[in-house]
Amino acid sequence: MSDSKKIRPIRGIVTKAIQETPDTWTLHLEVKPSERNYLAGQFLSISPKQFPELSELVAYFEHKKGKKELIRAYSMASAPHEPTVSFTIRPERFSPEHDDYAPFLSPFLASPFMKGREFEFLGYTGPYILPANLEEQADQVVHLVAGSGAVPNFSLLKDQLIQNKNPSVHHTLIDINRTYEDIIYRAELEELAQKYPKRFTLVHRLTREERPGFVNGRPTFDLLREHVKDPSRVLVYACGSAITKWQKKHAKLTGEKPAPRFIETVTDWTRQLGIDKKRFKHESYG
Ligand SMILES: Cc1cc2nc3c(=O)[nH]c(=O)nc-3n(C[C@H](O)[C@H](O)[C@H](O)COP(=O)(O)OP(=O)(O)OC[C@H]3O[C@@H](n4cnc5c(N)ncnc54)[C@H](O)[C@@H]3O)c2cc1C
Repeated sequence: MSDSKKIRPIRGIVTKAIQETPDTWTLHLEVKPSERNYLAGQFLSISPKQFPELSELVAYFEHKKGKKELIRAYSMASAPHEPTVSFTIRPERFSPEHDDYAPFLSPFLASPFMKGREFEFLGYTGPYILPANLEEQADQVVHLVAGSGAVPNFSLLKDQLIQNKNPSVHHTLIDINRTYEDIIYRAELEELAQKYPKRFTLVHRLTREERPGFVNGRPTFDLLREHVKDPSRVLVYACGSAITKWQKKHAKLTGEKPAPRFIETVTDWTRQLGIDKKRFKHESYG
């Protein structure tokens, strides 16, 4: 088993806590170089139980839910060649109509107060990685992401472009956000697009704001079709919201079918385009 497949506890110190958008924060962790051996697109996991500030909430939720609180996964925003291990948090919001409980680790982590903090995480795992023989399989990777779904794809893009991996493969990022202010890594993505114009196309879509130079409106099947050059030589990597296990559970009880979310919709589009399911990878955070 390679080192990148062994999950182990690792300690890191938060050297920077950067606010990316009004509700999104990136934590940059200093970690021993020998413990940064992950693959772009993988995630780390954090136990809420290690933070004394959360101990009463953990006890309360374990009592209410009747089960132990588990670790939470966070995709790496950094690429393996970068000096810090970074991840980006968009805290969940409590909605009394939809949720039984309030989220608690994500609002705690998404904060400037994390700077200087040392904590433990489990690293590294996850199948949302590009194949080693990418050039044999594809001429193009379409990254189709919504909101904080940009996180693992940002890692993949930096790894491929900056490290000049698989140079014959073109990357297209379709990045869907509510407003301009909500675009995570906006400046860094624009810099990548300027630096690697032959290898990288950046497409923004804003769903709730009209802004000159940006396409407005909900993403559609045609948006994907327009950017896929050849369905038989493309890999589609999609990350965004999906129907959660809690929504499925709730639906079973009420008999109401949950409405498709981003990943369910995009899965359907790739089928319509005739993209083989082996060429489609997706990750969701629910
Ligand atoms: C592979 C993967 C990668 C991820 N990457 C990221 C990332 O890069 N950035 C990011 O911000 N997030 C990411 N997430 C999501 C992250 O792991 C957490 O789920 C998220 O931060 C919420 O954690 P929380 O502790 O704040 O909320 P939680 O306590 O987990 O609650 C979240 C929601 O689940 C509901 N819920 C929880 N327990 C129950 C229960 N027993 N019954 C009914 N409902 C329940 C709550 O009501 C709430 O609405 C990722 C998830 C996965 C699986």
